[in-house]
Amino acid sequence: MKTFKLLFVLWVMVGGTRLGYAEEWKEYKKSHFIIYYQSAPFDFVENVEQSAERYYEDIARNLGFTRYKGWTWDERAKIYIYDSAEHYIQEAKQASWSHGSVSPSGKVIRTFPMAHGFFDSTLPHEIGHIVFREFVGLEAQVPLWFEEGVAMYQEQAKRWGAHAAVREAIQNGTFIPLEELTIMVLRGKTDEALVQLFYAESASIVNFMMNELGKQRFVNFCRELQESKSFDWTLDSIYARFDTIEDLNKAWIKYLEQP
Ligand SMILES: [Zn+2]
Repeated sequence: MKTFKLLFVLWVMVGGTRLGYAEEWKEYKKSHFIIYYQSAPFDFVENVEQSAERYYEDIARNLGFTRYKGWTWDERAKIYIYDSAEHYIQEAKQASWSHGSVSPSGKVIRTFPMAHGFFDSTLPHEIGHIVFREFVGLEAQVPLWFEEGVAMYQEQAKRWGAHAAVREAIQNGTFIPLEELTIMVLRGKTDEALVQLFYAESASIVNFMMNELGKQRFVNFCRELQESKSFDWTLDSIYARFDTIEDLNKAWIKYLEQP
């Protein structure tokens, strides 16, 4: 019995150490964010906090949320920096293609430093999700493509690359119309090319709405979503030309197919 117990303890210790999960979370608290980390070097942690603070300011501005008040000291957002991709995927229970995840209700971001484009993509993307949900409210009914498109809009590089990726999809017949995109569910086992197309289309349509259909209208649209009215109803009410999501889809394709 004693041997069994000892073996068990050893197994836990070896397992924990091998995977590097045994350490406690350390905290770094500043004005709008609390950073939690384990083995990440402190200058990296400071850099994450400073970048997060900058994005916090920039995102509300670039979405046109001028009356956005942000969040207060006791409601600070939390960023967990895992030591590795494996640690993140296992502990945060994420798909293997995920580089970061967010829970807007708790304002919690989970990510890892090796994430490709950590400072330019992952961080602004996840903070974008929180700022958007803080603005429209947790009750607002929003399709995933809209939510992801707004977050992707914060990633400068992808913002400009998205239209080209969608044009290519239209040409090779893989394009997913907005009606289908709306009911699409992304899972851990979803084909990675399909996941990428979903994100590219989400970024492209939100860019189109924001830049081609007017920024002020976009803000009005988000403001109307705050009232928890349905997405389709709000679309029809703010964008008079579009009775349905199919009409928006047509206008978007027409824009992309312009020579
Ligand atoms: Zn996202």
